[in-house]
Order: sequence, then structure tokens, then C-alpha cells
Amino acid sequence: ETSANVKRKRVSEDSPGRTHQSQLQQRRIKLLDSRKQLPIWQRQKDIRDALRDNDVLILSGETGSGKSTQVPQFFLDQPWCGFPGKIAVTQPRRVAAISLARRVAEEMGTPLGSSSPASKVGYSVRFDESTSPSTRIKFLTEGMLLQEMLRDASLSQYKCVIVDEVHERSVNIDLILGFLKQLQTRRKDLKVVVMSATADADSLQRFFAAQLLENTRHDSKSVPNDSQTDGEAEVDADDAPWHGFDDEDQQSSSNIATCHVEGRQYPVITRYLDSPTEDTIEASLHRIFQIHCKEPTPGDLLVFMTGQEAIQSLQKLVEEYALGLTTDYPKMLVLPLFAALPQAAQQLIFQPAPRNTRKVILTTNIAETSVTVPGVRFVVDTGKAKVKQFRNRIGLDSLLVKQISRSSADQRKGRAGREAAGQCYRLYTEEAYKSLDKDSTPEVLRCDLSQAVLTMKARGVGDVLRFPLLTPPPKEAMEKALLQLCELGALDEHGNISPIGRKIARLPLTPALGRVIIEAATPETDCLVEVIDIVACLSVEHIFLAIDTEEGREKASVARRQLLRRQGDHLTYLAAVQAYAAEQSDRRRWADDHMISHRAMQSVMDVRQQLTAQCRQAKLFTTQEAHPATDEATQERIVKCFLRGFSSNVARACPDGSYKTFAGNQTVAIHPSSVLFGRKVEAIIYNQFVYTNKAYARDVSVVQLRWLEEALDGMA
Ligand code: ADP
Repeated sequence: ETSANVKRKRVSEDSPGRTHQSQLQQRRIKLLDSRKQLPIWQRQKDIRDALRDNDVLILSGETGSGKSTQVPQFFLDQPWCGFPGKIAVTQPRRVAAISLARRVAEEMGTPLGSSSPASKVGYSVRFDESTSPSTRIKFLTEGMLLQEMLRDASLSQYKCVIVDEVHERSVNIDLILGFLKQLQTRRKDLKVVVMSATADADSLQRFFAAQLLENTRHDSKSVPNDSQTDGEAEVDADDAPWHGFDDEDQQSSSNIATCHVEGRQYPVITRYLDSPTEDTIEASLHRIFQIHCKEPTPGDLLVFMTGQEAIQSLQKLVEEYALGLTTDYPKMLVLPLFAALPQAAQQLIFQPAPRNTRKVILTTNIAETSVTVPGVRFVVDTGKAKVKQFRNRIGLDSLLVKQISRSSADQRKGRAGREAAGQCYRLYTEEAYKSLDKDSTPEVLRCDLSQAVLTMKARGVGDVLRFPLLTPPPKEAMEKALLQLCELGALDEHGNISPIGRKIARLPLTPALGRVIIEAATPETDCLVEVIDIVACLSVEHIFLAIDTEEGREKASVARRQLLRRQGDHLTYLAAVQAYAAEQSDRRRWADDHMISHRAMQSVMDVRQQLTAQCRQAKLFTTQEAHPATDEATQERIVKCFLRGFSSNVARACPDGSYKTFAGNQTVAIHPSSVLFGRKVEAIIYNQFVYTNKAYARDVSVVQLRWLEEALDGMA
């Protein structure tokens, strides 16, 4: 080697940090140009001024206008932000939180999260925290911000909380807005930014200005001659979320600014079906190839589907058909996108397609506003989404495939016109579009509120019926949640949070699953290790690959023979996790051999590790952690733990072969994906209720009626 070479080599070995630094800076400078093109760039002065002079900023702007990436950066050097004042940005989904953090770190030329103590941008999502002592902007999921409030109700480390994607109106968003509104009366230095992709700022403004409205309301009541307004005001006042705050809250209301950023939107041609279709997978497949083969314009496709299973079926079909394309056509690269997809796979959608290749992204409503996929010119919209829906009659949440709202349909369409003129193919008729609801119903009106109520109780809200919520749910729904929490032992008879309730609230799980964990941790039950494995499987979408043919079913039952347990899905999941964890050589191969999703299993191992750490931290392990085998007695104890959390999800066999729930007398059938499918047992417990063409129980195990009686005795 020449001496110059040696020298060069030594320099780069000596200062790997410096090389990395200069790479980061090069990338930062490169990205600055594209940041300047974003519509929000022109408005940065307005936005800074608005928050300097006010406590709350309501900012609306089209998806892709630059809200999530730019707004937090605008505030970093503001005097009110101080140093090292931190900014929190909440996101509805892990994917968005992580990919935004990565992007903003790149834009700022700083390493990401825990990779370096000097990193200024980090993230925190369930089961994965990546921050450093110098973190100034932290992207976190809504659930994680609520968790942080358990440790520090004043969120004292933050100078500013940005609540993003507010138009989604999840329960967590509504809770956060309520807490922040209350918090601002105590912390005058706290700035709040509420960002939304829809321009409906009115209700948010009214919410934050509640006290003014309260006054007006009193005024209007005292004007006797305007009976109509008077009447309306009375009705409003009765269920108004801001009616009856603590005295403290009455003292002042926040100063509120609003700002709207015009997006860049190219025209999008919309096409409808002439007649409705039942089979959206078939219709999507047809449309994808029509576009791919007939449209000369380049550009990627974004296809909105209902969920993971539909996406994976369609992916298989598209890939199969694509093999038959002649070389006259560009290649196709099919990429799935759904919340349960591991991070690395999700990142692929941001990369440009290789030469002569069209990306076909199959997504859930995650890409509606939350994740901006570059390069898209064609949108295919099935018009459906899976939503959580509380079924009052049976008293539990279920996932239902529902028609989307018109505003969702318009958001989906908009994705095609971000970078150039585009096309949107709606797989429904124009009449169907016109008959869609204008907006989606806020989640707080359609889901089980037990987690929300426990969240409030654990953060010191005494009277949950008076907590300020943007849309107050019916009183009965709140009362039902209180009752359920009492049954779980999370609240005492006075409605105060119990020690068990506090433990449950710290776990990133629903109260029912949390209760299962607590139950498993008692010295008598002693099966926490096993129950964590099962709960980890239940929190990941599906570990067993979906099978839709009789032949496939037979093949799978042979491949999975050693894992299947007669007692049901819970113990089958346990067997799968234990076997996977014990596999030392080639886990991917093991997964393929057993027709199990390797990706899902990786997520399970992630969740398992994190849950174990959390349980250890909460001192839930009373005995040794390692349990080598599971004998019959342990198996029985494990299923009984689930009974403690899900006593209302038990159904008994009827003479006609169906099952009817004890609570509500609802008929359910065992889902074909269950190991108990086609078998008849005395009674079943299940974790999930899905409604497709009929009511199905998923994640099912056998229970004995005797256990149920014991459980009821124990609760009494
Ligand atoms: P908004 O919040 O208004 O929807 P964003 O700030 O999320 O807008 O996105 C602005 C632009 O930044 C996007 O159009 C996209 O080009 C780019 N961008 C955002 N996130 C990423 C990412 N993870 N990778 C690459 N580009 C991204």
C-alpha cells in the first residue's frame, strides 16, 4: 500500500464519527431543498408567531403539506421553548412515529434516537423506546404519551405537545385533548398544537374556548324571547363535555389561534363502477392489472384494502399474475402496508421503485393521512375499512368491516394527486359514494370505554362523567365501563382505582388482558411466563398463515401437528412460541415448515421481551421465571387466567351445534382459523369477536362449566 493510502485509511479509522457526521450533514443539506418546496415552508413565520402569542394553535392542512415533519422544527429555537425544552409529537400509529422520527432526524442532520447520546430526535412507541439525553423532538404514539402522564401528570419535561392527526378522533386523541386542556390551567407555559388534515377547526376551537361558551350559554338562558336558541342551549348544556369543570378550570381559558395551510393538489380524475361488486379482492386485482397494462403514465399504485388478511391474499394473487407478464410491460413490486408489519418492511414503501418497475402498495387506512407514500399516481379504493365497534348487546368490542365515510374517500383520492395529476378508481358506484356518511363517527362513540375510563382514573380524574371530552359518549356507556372495571377488580366499590387497577393501567394492554396478566402473577397461579407468551401472540395480528383451500388446510394440519393443542388456540399459541424460541438454528425455516408467519413471530418475540421487562419492573414475577414444560395442571391454570379477564366472552354449546354467550345470549360460531373449528365442546372462551358474514369467535379455548362457577364464586 502506498503511504497516502495508509494515511487515508488511518484517518477514516480514527474518526468514524467525523465521517458519519459529514454524511449526516450532506444528507441534511440535500433534504433542505425538498423541505423548502413544502407548502408549509412559506407559512413558518405565521405559525411561529401564532404560537408565540397564544397557548393553543389549531393547524389544518392537507396530508403531505409538511405538518408533521416541519412544525416541530419551527419551534425549536423559539424563546418560549427554552433550552433544552422538549417537544412531544403524538401519532396514532407506531409506523408513523418511527418513520417521522427517522425523517426529521435526517432533515436535522442528527443521529436517530438512542444510537447516539447527541441525538436530538427520538421516538417512543409501545415496546420500543429510542431516545437520548439530548432528545428535543420526540415522536410518540398517543398511548405512550398517556403512559408518560402516569409517571408525571404535568408532562413537565415538555414545553410543547403537538397532537397530530386529530381528524382521526381516536379515544386516545380525545383523552389527550381533555388532559391537555386541564393541564394548561396549571401550566401556563405549556403550548399545545392540534393538527388535522381536515379543515374543521370549529369544534376544536369551541372545545378549547369552552369557558367562553359556558358564559354565553348562561347569557342565552337569560334571554327569554329567543326560545329556540334557549332550547338548544339547554340540550347542549346537559351533555356538554365542558359543563361542570373543576373550579380551577373555570378561571381561565386558553388563547387560541387557528391556521390553515393550503396543500398542493393536482387534479385527480375519479372513476366509479357501473354496478356494485361483492368481491373486492377480485375487483382490485382486475383494476390493478388494467392500470398497469393500459396506463402509459408511470407512477405507483396505492390500493386501499380492509386489513392484513385481505392484503396478504391480494399480494399473493398479484405476484402470481405478475409472473405471467411479458417483457413489454414494466415489472411490478408489491408492497404491503399495515400496522402490524415490522418496521423494516414498512420502510420499504418510502424507497423509490427500481428502474422499469411500478410499485403496487396494498394498504389499510394507515396510508389515508398518517403515512405519505411518495410516487403515487393511481389510487384504487375498495371503500371499506376495518373499524372497532362496540356491540352493546354482547358488551364487547369487535372488528367490523365497514363502509368508509365520504371524507375518508376524499382523503384516499387525494393521495393520487400529490406530485402530479392522478387517477382514482373507486370500486363502488357513484350512488354508493353519495350515500356514504359525511364523516366517520369518533371512536369514543363506538368502542368499549373501559380502557379510557381506567386511563382517567389512574391519572386522578375523580368524576369521569365530567371529564372534558370533545364528543361526550352516552352516560350509559361510561357507566357500563365503570361496571366492567369493578368486575375486573380494577376499581373498588366506591369507584376508586384499586391497587390491581393501578398495576393494570401501567401495562400497555386492554384492562381485560391486563387483568389476565395480574391473575397469572399470583403465587397460586404462577404461570406469568406462559401467559405473557400467549398475550404476545394475541397482540400481533395472526401468527398462522391464512389458508383458504381444503387442500391447504390439510397440509397445514400436518405441518403444524406438533403445535396444535386440543384445549384450543391459547395453548396452541403457547406451544408455537415455546418451540420457536427454542429453535436455535434457522427460525425462518422453522416458520416456513410450520406455515407460520416469520414476520409475525418476530413481532411476538419483540412484544414478549418488552412485556417481560415491564412485568419484571412492576415486580410481578413472584417465582422463578423459567418454566420448562407445561403439565395439565398448569394448562388448566393458564386458561383460568383468561377466564378472569374475559368472563363475559364465554359461550356454551347449544343442541344445534352453535354456541351462545352467557352474557347477552348472542350466537357465535368458532372461526375457521381456530384449532377448535369443527369440534364440539361444552363451553368456550374467546378473545376476539369478529363479524363478517356472521358472528365468529376467534382465539378460542375449551372451558369447563365448573371453572366458570368457580370463577364467579371467586369474584363474588
Ligand atoms: P403532513 O404531516 O402534512 O401530512 P409530512 O410532514 O408528514 O406532511 O410530510 C411531508 C413530506 O415529507 C411528504 O410528502 C414526504 O415527501 C416527506 N416524508 C415524510 N416522511 C417521510 C419518510 N419517512 N421518508 C421519506 N419522506 C418522507
